[in-house]
Amino acid sequence: MKTAFVYTDAYTRYTYSDTHPLQPSRLRLTRELIESYGLLHLSHSQVIETVPACRQELELFHTPEYLNILAAADSGESHPAYLAYGLGAGDNPIFPGMYVWSQLCAGGTLQAARLVESGAVDIALHIAGGLHHALASRASGFCYINDAVLAITELIAKGYRVAYIDIDVHHGDGVQAAFYDTDQVLTISLHESGAYLFPGTGFVHEVGEGKGWGYAVNVPLPPGVDDDVYVEAFMAVVPPLVRAYNPDFVFTQLGVDTFRADPLAHAQLTTAGFLRVLEQIKTLAPRWVATGGGGYHLPNVARAWTLAWGMMNDVEVPDTLPEAARASLQRQGYRGQTLRDPEVSWHPSHRDHMRAEAQQAVAYLQQHVFPLHGLKA
Ligand SMILES: [Zn+2]
Repeated sequence: MKTAFVYTDAYTRYTYSDTHPLQPSRLRLTRELIESYGLLHLSHSQVIETVPACRQELELFHTPEYLNILAAADSGESHPAYLAYGLGAGDNPIFPGMYVWSQLCAGGTLQAARLVESGAVDIALHIAGGLHHALASRASGFCYINDAVLAITELIAKGYRVAYIDIDVHHGDGVQAAFYDTDQVLTISLHESGAYLFPGTGFVHEVGEGKGWGYAVNVPLPPGVDDDVYVEAFMAVVPPLVRAYNPDFVFTQLGVDTFRADPLAHAQLTTAGFLRVLEQIKTLAPRWVATGGGGYHLPNVARAWTLAWGMMNDVEVPDTLPEAARASLQRQGYRGQTLRDPEVSWHPSHRDHMRAEAQQAVAYLQQHVFPLHGLKA
């Protein structure tokens, strides 16, 4: 298995604001934890320095007017006219260097996709990518440029078919919207239901339109799902559909705001459930472009993506945290002692309630979407 980790420390030159949930420093914390385990020096793996995306690459999806505004806002000065583009509101603040930050996040994902497409590697991970809410001419949900849409657009322009799997706790609305009317991209998003959480979309009946009918798939889940309920829903929907679709590439958005203690949502996943999902993705994805995504509890982000990178490289990462890494996780509020979360036991009635609601979504998809892919209802 050949792999690439696309990264630059330049990400951490930028800050949305001191109090904004998305802290680019989480990327350095992750890289440091990965490094402390020796996982950036593997014989079959390479570390690739991120190259910022150029204007032409950003225009694969975004409108010139929006990009002009974003470039103007790079100075950090706000202007009332920016509000029409989603810029300057609480979620998407104006900050110095925001255009360059966005170029870096986009560029790394384009590089990851090209490394996999060229055959140089089988799996590429870009933890600064996965900014799945951005729209063609509007920032949304902390996302200014939609790196996933750019990279997938480039792949499908070459005639490939892509399965996009989004396990962020929020619906992958920007990516779904971009490919809603094509069968060249199968988008699947598992998320906390839009009835409870931003962006308020991603219901089961959103299944695509025109040629894309049946190629948008949504698994909305009740707030508070645990590992077992989440993994059961994932297993019931994702492997059968992806196998039936038989894509050239699997593209994943690996948001970890599904974890317990994440401040922005209510799911209760642990490293155990996250890894079960990733192991399944790995069996579905001989050619895998992976990005990060949400994740606002910094130590959780670092631990989860370190485990993901280990799994991608077939390395069983020891549970004992290296001394220096433990100290930096503790400075970020981590109270655990190990890389993985301890096992959690759930009250059965809580789980039964969650399971019943999740199964309703699964049943709808089995009845209405599976037959469109030749699968039995
Ligand atoms: Zn999210």
